[in-house]
Amino acid sequence: MELKICHLYPEVLNLYGDRGNIRCLSKRLSWRGIDCHVDELKIGDKKSLDDYDLFFIGGGQDFEQEVLLDDLNAGKGAEIKAAVEDGKTFLCICGGYQMMGHYYQTHEGVKCEFLGAVDFYTVGGDRMIDNYAFRLGEESGGSTVVGFENHSGKTYLGLGVKPLGTVLKGCGNNGEDGTEGVRYRNVFGTYSHGPVLPKNPEFADFLLKTALQRRYGNAAELEPLPDGFEKTAHDLVLKGVLEGKQGA
Ligand code: GLN
Repeated sequence: MELKICHLYPEVLNLYGDRGNIRCLSKRLSWRGIDCHVDELKIGDKKSLDDYDLFFIGGGQDFEQEVLLDDLNAGKGAEIKAAVEDGKTFLCICGGYQMMGHYYQTHEGVKCEFLGAVDFYTVGGDRMIDNYAFRLGEESGGSTVVGFENHSGKTYLGLGVKPLGTVLKGCGNNGEDGTEGVRYRNVFGTYSHGPVLPKNPEFADFLLKTALQRRYGNAAELEPLPDGFEKTAHDLVLKGVLEGKQGA
């Protein structure tokens, strides 16, 4: 088996080492003898998205999000939407997550019309920044995720759109309704900056499974890995976050 991963806009959307998520995904595949091929697609690159199984889009600041708009409108946006409807797997972080919604209106009032691949919108407000934790919805595996959020955008999901999870500590989508991120088809949008996956191995494997099963059918399973270190890291951080410790 093999998976092809596409890292979209690595030159502009890569805050806090978000790209570490790709290293984590490819390592977890290679430990199981599954081939992994990663391509980077930058602004202006014209390569078709048809070939890929899993897409990664990292976070960026307001300015960087604005810079992308022309490239999205020149064709990539339509291709991304088609890949979403085709059930391909997407992990989208913060600014990359906001990009999948209808629009982002910054704190200063600049409105970026985004893809509308998923029914939600984002408006700038007071900054939400801290370590946080959430529980994934059952349809996304149900495990707990620990992460770090830093966004001024408040995201509001459309009626009937499922969040990725429920906030245990922190702000998540907007600090108001207890939701975090979005899950639509195989799009996983989250405010959790990176790399979020190494310390949340169940979430990492859940993503990989959606991509493998789409390509190879529901029988495609992942062998368990000895995740002792990863789980210890996860549990320690979760305990610290829930107890409100700084630097958890
Ligand atoms: N510019 C967006 C916000 O502040 C995204 C930030 C980010 O990706 N960290 O809401």
